[in-house]
Amino acid sequence: MMAGEGSAAKPRGGRLCTICNGRRAALKRPKTLEQICRECFYEVFEDEIHRVIVDNHLFKRGERVAIGASGGKDSTVLAYVLSELNNRHDYGLDLFLLSVDEGITGYRDDSLETVKRNEIQYGLPLKVVSYKELYGWTMDEIVKLIGLKNNCTFCGVFRRQALDRGATLLKVDKLVTGHNADDIAETVLLNILRGDIARLSRCTSITTGEDGPIPRCKPFKYTYEKEIVIYPYLNMLFTYAYFKKLDYFSTECIYSPNAYRGFAREFIKDLERIRPRAILDIIQSGEDFRISTFTKMPEQGNCERCGYISSQKWCKACVLLEGLNRGLPKMGIGRTRVLDNERDKDTRQTNGTKSIESKQCGTLDF
Ligand code: SF4
Repeated sequence: MMAGEGSAAKPRGGRLCTICNGRRAALKRPKTLEQICRECFYEVFEDEIHRVIVDNHLFKRGERVAIGASGGKDSTVLAYVLSELNNRHDYGLDLFLLSVDEGITGYRDDSLETVKRNEIQYGLPLKVVSYKELYGWTMDEIVKLIGLKNNCTFCGVFRRQALDRGATLLKVDKLVTGHNADDIAETVLLNILRGDIARLSRCTSITTGEDGPIPRCKPFKYTYEKEIVIYPYLNMLFTYAYFKKLDYFSTECIYSPNAYRGFAREFIKDLERIRPRAILDIIQSGEDFRISTFTKMPEQGNCERCGYISSQKWCKACVLLEGLNRGLPKMGIGRTRVLDNERDKDTRQTNGTKSIESKQCGTLDF
């Protein structure tokens, strides 16, 4: 639970809910500014997600679906809501929780305990894959070697692949992640700031990786973060997670720098204060971008080393891992000195390895 939420008390004021017009309003919806009661909030919150799932044909009956679960607010609410909607609307899905253990003492070990409780609370089988098993390194060990610069690049690249590997082990058809509307708007802005045309063109897609082994979906694409986790009203804090008394973990990663994304996040929050629709408008702008046909886009193939999907000879994880194992951790990050011509070629090709950070740290590319 978020600190301070326990102080939430009975709503003051006598306004009636603008939806049912019968019960007293308990919150002002950040997205629409309507004053509504708790029951109507549950209903509109869940119904909107249901509509997103149905209108975008996210799932087919009988599919096995893994929920990327970090123990944080978004993925916990996603696991709860998806499990509810699956039962209520009879989607016919087999749901699983999939977690990645990066090996960060004092952070991931604690958040995994939350996911283990969610496994029991929601009755969803849990699979945990770890960096140590997959790559032979924990993030604690990587940070010891490289310090606190570029650690999120390693972590983000490894996590992306780890989730795919976990999903393959679970034999699922889809992987869903808890990216919310704020995350996506931030990523649109960051991709514009970085000039990353390839990511800009796909970061607003509700489903990605359809050409790869396991497509990924974002059912919270239009869901505001404030509605998921925290919303102050009349000095009280209300959220879906709070109202539903969901069990989630809210501590930041001990290695989190996140300065760049932090600025984009603050900028969007400022815009939202002036115009609540700003988040949806930025997503819409990202969707409306048209990439010039003269822009050369990366061609997808497979890594010659591990077989994972890659637009280069070696995937980013293999390039980074090679650097770690050779004691040259900067290999694959930026324009760095390399060992031989072969690696020189590969590293230059992979200079696109930018600071790919994770959703769990409030960033995208989960
Ligand atoms: Fe990994 Fe996120 Fe921590 Fe960076 S902040 S090391 S991406 S968990």
